[in-house]
Amino acid sequence: MFGRRFELFRILGFPVRLDASWFLVAVAGAWFFAQGVFPERHPDLPTATYWAMGVVAIAGLFVSILLHELAHALTARHFNLSTHGITLFLFGGVAEILDDPPSPQAEMVIAIAGPVASLLLAGWLALAAFVGSTSGWPGGLSSVLLYLALLNLALGLINLLPALPLDGGRVLRALIWWSKNDLAKATELTSRVGAAFGTAMLVWGLFLAFGGSFAAGVWLVIVGFFLRSAAGASIRQQLLNSALKGEPVHRFMHTNPITVPRAISVADLVEAYVYRYQQEMFPVVDDDRLVGWVPPGAIERMPRDEWERQSVAVLVQPCGPENSVTADADALQALTAMRRSNLPGLMVVDGDHLLGVLRLKDLLGFFSMKLKLEGPRFRRR
Ligand SMILES: [Zn+2]
Repeated sequence: MFGRRFELFRILGFPVRLDASWFLVAVAGAWFFAQGVFPERHPDLPTATYWAMGVVAIAGLFVSILLHELAHALTARHFNLSTHGITLFLFGGVAEILDDPPSPQAEMVIAIAGPVASLLLAGWLALAAFVGSTSGWPGGLSSVLLYLALLNLALGLINLLPALPLDGGRVLRALIWWSKNDLAKATELTSRVGAAFGTAMLVWGLFLAFGGSFAAGVWLVIVGFFLRSAAGASIRQQLLNSALKGEPVHRFMHTNPITVPRAISVADLVEAYVYRYQQEMFPVVDDDRLVGWVPPGAIERMPRDEWERQSVAVLVQPCGPENSVTADADALQALTAMRRSNLPGLMVVDGDHLLGVLRLKDLLGFFSMKLKLEGPRFRRR
């Protein structure tokens, strides 16, 4: 959301990242619990204890969101969909599932897994809080467990709202997809429902804010804005997929890209190629044979004082499915590959022969041109 992400650890093979905006939640949430909630429930405890309870509650919230997203990621893995990892940000978390689900049933199961995990967790935490309060655990601990149960209940229920990209929106999309047998149509309809939800929350929030409940009102306005923009993004994403699906890569590729020889120094590469042509990636050719490319970021990672001594050969990443496609491959698959490896383009190859390069910005340019000329109801293939 704010762009800066930190990878924390990997769990069951999924990298877990934290968006910088999560720190805002952590600090504001701990403060809210330590100052606003626990002193009222337990007036006789020292201030440090309130803060400790606040920090434990936020750590518990972190684990709760992680388990919710892990439920999505594990069910997605069950259906052989690749996941880019789990990111926690301002409004919760997201399991970045890269491929479209194979069937409405799969979509339904993956979508419902998160809320089910949260609601089960809410039940167990409420039970633990009850056991704790009847068998004499410290009062603070039972309180923290109870609030974590409530947070998980909220996490489960809010995510069931039928607004994409929330889980309830995915369930709705799966149902429409199943009944109409058309994923594009289902995404469009569900996104419109999501946008309507967002608008309703926004208006309601404005009423609340001017009617006296300022904090709750502002919060609703922010969530409403988020839902509206997310719905717009889902529609654009679906349209982009429809526009590219079935189009061959060679329709968009640039033939005759600038290539570099393997033997020159990195300093020469920078001076004679990077600054001159400003390409983001350079295929490396040796005796008319493609050996790989200099991937984006490789030069930055090499210390400046080694540029003179090292040759391009040390930067070369060989060709593979993560950085190259064939000319007759599907452009949508190429786009998915770029997203998966987070690359601005791919090499188009025929064996060890370079045919051209396919750039992300050309795919997006084609899409926006198509949208401009034909409108959002362009003929789907
Ligand atoms: Zn979810």
